[in-house]
Amino acid sequence: MLRRLLTQTSSPRRLLSSKTPFFSKPSLSPFSSLPSSPDPPSSASSHVEESGSAAAAGTTISVDRSALFNPPDHSHEPTPDSELVKHLKSVIKFRGGPISVAEYMEEVLTNPRSGYYMNRDVFGAQGDFITSPEVSQMFGEMIGVWTVCLWEQMGKPERVNLIELGPGRGTLMVDLLRGTSKFRNFTESLHIHLVECSPALQKIQHQNLKCTDESSSEKKAISSLAGTPVHWHATLEEVPSGVPTIIIAHEFYDALPVHQFQKTPRGWCEKMVDVGEDSQFRFVLSPQPTPAALYLVKRCTWATPEEKERLEHVEISPKSMDLTQEIAKRVGSDGGGALIIDYGKDVIISDSLQAIREHKFVNILDDPGSADLSAYVDFPSIKHSAEEASENVTVHGPMTQSQFLGSLGINFRVDALLQNCDDEQAESLRSGYWRLVGDGEAPFWEGPDEQTPIGMGERYLAMAIVNRNQGTPAPFQSLPCQSLRSEYLLKGRMYGFEALTFNIHGGYLEAIVRGHRAGLLTTADYNNLCQCENLDDIKMHLSATKYGSYLQNEPSPLHTTTIVEKCTLKLVDDYKHMLCQATEPMSTFLEYIRYGHMIDNVVLIVTGTLHERDVQELIEKCHPLGMFDSIATLAVAQNMRELYRLVLVDTPLAPYFSECLTSEDLDDMNIEIMRNTLYKAYLEDFYKFCQKLGGATSEIMSDLLAFEADRRAVNITINSIGTELTREDRKKLYSNFGLLYPYGHEELAICEDIDQVRGVMEKYPPYQAIFSKMSYGESQMLDKAFYEEEVRRLCLAFEQQFHYGVFFAYMRLREQEIRNLMWISECVAQNQKSRIHDSVVYMF
Ligand code: SAH
Repeated sequence: MLRRLLTQTSSPRRLLSSKTPFFSKPSLSPFSSLPSSPDPPSSASSHVEESGSAAAAGTTISVDRSALFNPPDHSHEPTPDSELVKHLKSVIKFRGGPISVAEYMEEVLTNPRSGYYMNRDVFGAQGDFITSPEVSQMFGEMIGVWTVCLWEQMGKPERVNLIELGPGRGTLMVDLLRGTSKFRNFTESLHIHLVECSPALQKIQHQNLKCTDESSSEKKAISSLAGTPVHWHATLEEVPSGVPTIIIAHEFYDALPVHQFQKTPRGWCEKMVDVGEDSQFRFVLSPQPTPAALYLVKRCTWATPEEKERLEHVEISPKSMDLTQEIAKRVGSDGGGALIIDYGKDVIISDSLQAIREHKFVNILDDPGSADLSAYVDFPSIKHSAEEASENVTVHGPMTQSQFLGSLGINFRVDALLQNCDDEQAESLRSGYWRLVGDGEAPFWEGPDEQTPIGMGERYLAMAIVNRNQGTPAPFQSLPCQSLRSEYLLKGRMYGFEALTFNIHGGYLEAIVRGHRAGLLTTADYNNLCQCENLDDIKMHLSATKYGSYLQNEPSPLHTTTIVEKCTLKLVDDYKHMLCQATEPMSTFLEYIRYGHMIDNVVLIVTGTLHERDVQELIEKCHPLGMFDSIATLAVAQNMRELYRLVLVDTPLAPYFSECLTSEDLDDMNIEIMRNTLYKAYLEDFYKFCQKLGGATSEIMSDLLAFEADRRAVNITINSIGTELTREDRKKLYSNFGLLYPYGHEELAICEDIDQVRGVMEKYPPYQAIFSKMSYGESQMLDKAFYEEEVRRLCLAFEQQFHYGVFFAYMRLREQEIRNLMWISECVAQNQKSRIHDSVVYMF
């Protein structure tokens, strides 16, 4: 917990709440103050096998039976016993022997009468520690992004149980609900279940979520923040199952009891808590095997040989393993997923239990109940427990909190908030941001040393357990490029807040799109689709994807066109959704994405009319993203001028027509020239627009649009070989930017066969690889090779942050996905499965 960042000073924090001071400490490892584990006595009696292989082979763990070992590690001032101390002593007395560290921890934290959490608010300046949601509203908001993304991957169910384990003050949930309030379908689907053992904290959660009780029950209320029902439970088992579920556990696992074991020459002994002759608590080692040893054996089977070799102390949390199993079973059967974020490690934990009181480390055994106890979370054991409990779940991560929040787009969020705040709030945002994602002391800090924000981004880890049907959750599908991230962090770009144009929704939407990306079909999905025998099989395979609900009501036998149509409909719905959420200049950016389809539609109708096709039929063939009101009228135009005057003058394509305005007839050749002239003007315009936006958008879009311009130049060249088009005419159709501009254009303009084109293109390193895939004299593979390179570049666009390129990249990837589905369906329908791989372009 941030509770481990201990300091004295305060500064304002949240933009949207009262000014709560927070604490941090520019200091050494927080664990240095824990009593070091004692060396075992040398008079060993029996030997211990702790290794997993030994255990698996049936060897039992033997424990020191010779005597209790009492490490001399602390002293106490005599103080009157508190109620909890009396209770603990009586348990030890009643048992006739020491209790495990886990039992001690559990009593100290959650004893119903006097447990640490039970009767008070322990967070913030007046409390003992502070957690991420309390540091900055951005934390809960980003968890909201994750939750919406998962919900979308779940197929946007109408009813979802959103369970939070250990909600503290309820701050994370409040921020999550506020952040996601724009997503009405999402918030309306929610039933919130808070699993909280502390009556005092339940009350605070009730207040903060602005709840009104429903009839007589205090355990059920409606939060006025989103009109959502809220229920309280003491344990996860009490939460009703059978409904798709999203579980969030932030800083919950580290409060679950741990058992500690120590390797001695006599074997592994469990560390226990006893009462000494001076009537003080003390640690002793177990004189005989303890039930928890079974869990130790299990944990060791998951350890690597190197880990086992090094182990001297082991800390395990059977409660965490059991809880994880419960989570995995629930998620496995009900659908959905769980997100666990905590202070922890991706290796076996040796000895991490610590006590914190008033932002300072104290002895674990001192005045129990007055200090928080917590331990590192053992992430590998969570992973293995989940995988063992249910075949229907997959586990992702852990990744660092910094990677997690960074990939979800916290940069956009902080920037958006900074555009709308005063100086004091800005300072609080910057330091809050640093605390969440930074590592070590904030390099930009100019205030007093003792207030230096300390980053926790690398020490906290995030892990997700999701139902297999949901695919890979955001943002686990790809880690952001490490070098980029550190470049941002170190050069201060992240908190320098260059003049970016993102607004609140922009940032949020960007994060959502990053999440959508996880829903793109993977190579595994394509492999499954390739096994299909008919189009109904394909429909079945797609039922677990985002397309499922769009195809579910389609009767058999299906046709390829239906699959393509429905998948396109889904793409259009997603696009419209983005557009609704967007404000300027993002809306204009999104509009630009449609213009290419508009041009293709114009050409389709005009060419079709030329060949006397039925207009209605033609309109049905148009891409829905390129539709506009007057499109049917296109059919009456006799020449370009009419086309423009009658129809296109009122569309966004109008400015692109200036080069096309001739009275020439609309024959096939002229129409093709028109298409390319329009496209050239469109690409150049889009390119200029992106440059005006500046920042990473301009950088990334320049690259993507340049690639598009170059590809078109190559296609124009190849398609016009052997036609009447003159060299000059050909050159006029190339866009005036891109890697090939201007010298490559000169050379392409004079090419007379495919090998000459190849000769030109091989001079440009990015295109060498594409052309090397073809044999001399052939161009069949060219489209696929270009698509593959495009997909590679589009995926790369997700690696950078602060830009609109992700929207463009996402739409293009989705279009490629639909091309893939069309090809696969066609191959399956025509019994040509061996040809599937000819055209499918894999993305992940
Ligand atoms: N998630 C919150 C609070 C973390 S502190 C935050 O990040 O701010 C741990 C929380 O878990 C507290 O609300 C505590 O009361 C609760 N808790 C601890 N042990 C619990 C248990 N065994 N069962 C239910 N709730 C528990």
